[in-house]
Amino acid sequence: MVKSSQASGFYKLSPEERLRFIKEFANLTEEETAQLQNMGSLPMNVADRMIENVIGVFPVPLGIATNFLINDRDYLIPMAIEEPSVVAAASYAAKMVRDGGGFYTSSTQPIMIGQIQVVGVKDPYAAKMRVTQSKEEILKKANDQDPVLVSAGGGAKDLDAKIINTTQGMMLIAELHVDCRDVMGANAVNTMAEAVAPIIERVTGGHVYLRIISNLATKRLARAWCIVPKKSVGGEEVVDGIVNAYAFAAADPYRAATHNKGILNGIIGVVLATCNDHRAIEAGAHAYAATTGRYTSLSTWEKNENGDLVGSLELPMAIGLVGGAVRTHPIAKIAVKILGVKTANELGEVAAAVGLAQNLGALRALAHEGIQHGHMSLHARNIAVSAGATGELIDLVAARMVEEHKIRMDKAKELIEQFKASGKI
Ligand code: NAD
Repeated sequence: MVKSSQASGFYKLSPEERLRFIKEFANLTEEETAQLQNMGSLPMNVADRMIENVIGVFPVPLGIATNFLINDRDYLIPMAIEEPSVVAAASYAAKMVRDGGGFYTSSTQPIMIGQIQVVGVKDPYAAKMRVTQSKEEILKKANDQDPVLVSAGGGAKDLDAKIINTTQGMMLIAELHVDCRDVMGANAVNTMAEAVAPIIERVTGGHVYLRIISNLATKRLARAWCIVPKKSVGGEEVVDGIVNAYAFAAADPYRAATHNKGILNGIIGVVLATCNDHRAIEAGAHAYAATTGRYTSLSTWEKNENGDLVGSLELPMAIGLVGGAVRTHPIAKIAVKILGVKTANELGEVAAAVGLAQNLGALRALAHEGIQHGHMSLHARNIAVSAGATGELIDLVAARMVEEHKIRMDKAKELIEQFKASGKI
């Protein structure tokens, strides 16, 4: 049976009811659903092996974005995030996009770049040629380090070298191109870069310092695009508003930073839920947004001949399904199961689609009703909780603050006192 991600009224359910829905959708076991409900489901002995000096764990809410149709397949999207409105906006945007046939995605091969820095080379231009001439020997040495990656169809596939001018003079930078298949690849690539360094020193006559992966993963890109019918987005005026909002981000780095932060709200939600390295992806995204020499928007929004909105997004996506902490963290494993993705590339494409949805949700709100409308009502609940509200008092206080357009801590405290004094709760 084909299962739909259209879960009408999902947000109105209790967490237990939502979990029952997800259990059914993703065939979760009793043990997996119990783990999702257990706030301490990252055992101390596992956490203690993940990082250093562990004293505890840090829980973040895990929400599900609904309505995603990607390449004609339904996905429910687990998102780990502390910020209100993000999951709701992604679900709402995915619903609009669904009306236009959903998201379409693609990606390049999962190739990461490993850099080897060589200094003190007497004849850098000739040395560069000697490096490329030794390509076979260097690639073989790199691949000898990782038979598992090679047997999975990956491994070092190519080698490049460039000369850069620095404050310390000319440097030769050799770059290994490694197909990482289903891993993010930093450890794999760094190991290879370290192993080939002696060969590179020998052929260049220089001294190698750094041997490290680049997070500007321009050879590992994920892409997503969509058509949003003008009717679904709120009419042609809203389409024009969104296209203008994009033009602002494309032209002004101050706006572009916030525009791209909105895209990353969605992407990082998925990246964190699957316990991938979100710093690597954020670094890659922002660097990619500046590759023309001027920081700009990662996405594009246009109006087509029918007056419909067309969005597209391309960015580096160093994401894994194996390796790192993806298979160590019990909740990440469940998130991958809910997503139902089979390869790291598929996961990256889903993340790109979520980023595009998130961007659409934010731009529509900004160009239409203003961002605070949706944001503040959720924010009000957080303020109410911080002010000491519990149980039903949270929604009562939040609703009253929104009604009075006073979403502040002092107001929340005042309302808590008032409600308590009224004896209604
Ligand atoms: P890893 O070392 O845990 O696993 C990689 C290995 O998994 C491969 O080398 C391969 O031998 C094996 N493997 C098994 N099945 C595979 C398959 N289907 N496809 C490909 N390989 C397969 O992980 P990693 O992805 O090499 O490194 C990721 C970690 O490195 C993350 O924790 C990240 O935070 C960290 N890191 C990041 C940076 C950076 O981004 N600059 C730097 C250093 C470390």
